[in-house]
This record gives sequence, C-alpha cells and structure tokens, in this order.
Amino acid sequence: MGLQNCEICKSQFKWSKIYKSLCAAYRPIQCSQCELNHRITFSSRILLALLTVLPIMIFGSYFLNKWSLSISYIALIMIIYGMFLSVFFPYLVKYSSDN
Ligand SMILES: [Zn+2]
Repeated sequence: MGLQNCEICKSQFKWSKIYKSLCAAYRPIQCSQCELNHRITFSSRILLALLTVLPIMIFGSYFLNKWSLSISYIALIMIIYGMFLSVFFPYLVKYSSDN
C-alpha cells in the first residue's frame, strides 16, 4: 500500500492529486516531472465501487433492522463513512500509463 509512482520517472504522485482525480470521475493524472498521462486501472474502479457500495448496503440494512434508526440518520452515517474511507482511496488505486 502506498501512493502511485510515475511508471517512467518514478516520481510519486501527491495524495491530493490522486484524490482530485478520483473526485473528477477518474480524470487521468499527468506526471508533474515527465508529463506522462496515467489512467486509473479497471480493477481499481471495481475496487472503489465495491468498497463504497457493499458496506453501505450491508451496514445500511443491518442498522435499519437492528436499531430501527431513521433513514436520514443512516444516510448521515454513510456519508461520514464514505468521507472517512475516501481518505484511503489514493493509497488503494492503481494507475497505468497511456502507452
Ligand atoms: Zn513521470
């Protein structure tokens, strides 16, 4: 687990750069050193989708049955959970160069 390096010059992408890319619907990242474009890998997209959707479905239904919490309260928990989780996303995703 670690932040992605450029495939050519090995310079490390900044956390904020990867995070912004994820927020902008997986916008390609350009290396600040050699300007090579990197795209997020398909498996990383799947991973992020699973990490976000599965727990929300599992815990959402669990809380709903177990504690009879209101939907809005559960939605709030899920939003906080999502924000917390997204901090780690830049460490989990992989990018590969265009060529
Ligand atoms: Zn580079």
